[in-house]
Amino acid sequence: MGGLVEIKGSTRTVGLFGYPVEHSLSPSMQNAAFRHCGLDICYVPFAVAPEALGAAFAGVRALGFLGLNLTIPHKVAAMSFVDEIAPEARMVGAINTVVNRDGRLIAYNTDLFGVTMALREDAGAEIKGKIVVLFGAGGAARACAFAFAIEGVGELIILNRTEGRAESLARDLVSYLGETGSSCRVRSGSLDSFGSWGERADILVNATSLGLGGEEGPVSDLRILKDSCVVCDLVYHPGGTPFLRRARERGLKTADGLTVLLYQGAKSFSIWTGEEAPIEVMRDALGAGRR
Ligand code: NAP
Repeated sequence: MGGLVEIKGSTRTVGLFGYPVEHSLSPSMQNAAFRHCGLDICYVPFAVAPEALGAAFAGVRALGFLGLNLTIPHKVAAMSFVDEIAPEARMVGAINTVVNRDGRLIAYNTDLFGVTMALREDAGAEIKGKIVVLFGAGGAARACAFAFAIEGVGELIILNRTEGRAESLARDLVSYLGETGSSCRVRSGSLDSFGSWGERADILVNATSLGLGGEEGPVSDLRILKDSCVVCDLVYHPGGTPFLRRARERGLKTADGLTVLLYQGAKSFSIWTGEEAPIEVMRDALGAGRR
């Protein structure tokens, strides 16, 4: 299913702003979906340097783009250039999707949806009441932490290389949970403290950037985990990251970063078009066959 949508005078543009963007799988996935649904929309990646982000947003308004995706390093900085931010994206402190409604730019964070859907679909795992160990405290980890809080996680243990960032995320989460009256426990620590927490995990999630280049994940020894533990990696790599492959070798159920990408993209598609996303078409375009 190759090829682009036919570009006409009426064609609307959805842009992807990142730096770099050339390795992104989103253009193939979104253009396949627009084409399949007969929508007069095309998805175009733009390498936008951080200092050019404001000018690029002025371009979105001037050129009447239908919407945007934002990826590294723009998910936080882009918040200053939109008109409205959805409550869950404000909580996370990062946006990845923008829709242009009659000149007003409205921002969302669809990564929250991606991670819960991937755990559900790939591994049959529900978050409610579970003990989750989360590696990372950057934008992706923040999205995961708030997604898990929304889903009613029982206990969340946030471990990060820079412990202060894990503490800060834990504080933000506790303040959100306080507002909701939740009884969830939140803890934080360094990656080294995995030895103390790992055996309790029902679900283990890597939201650090380790594994992008095929390197080891945040920890290499998963023997401590329970046999029923589900392992999810937000990072994706052909055939799975070393972290995910190690979990599979250990006989654990896993959820793949490609499935996270698929479902965050499906949610973005619906925000731009008001239509349900053609999941199987998007999955095929990603080369992410059902396991
Ligand atoms: P980010 O904000 O830059 O955060 C990076 C995280 O990785 C931080 O917790 C950082 O720890 C940690 N880290 C980086 N290098 C490390 C190292 N050498 N050792 C230990 N920890 C290290 O990035 P992000 O936006 O959160 O994205 C993280 C990953 O998630 C990226 O690979 C991205 O592609 C992936 N992601 C995937 C999807 C998807 O759809 N599948 C969606 C969103 C993100 P410090 O705080 O100590 O620096």
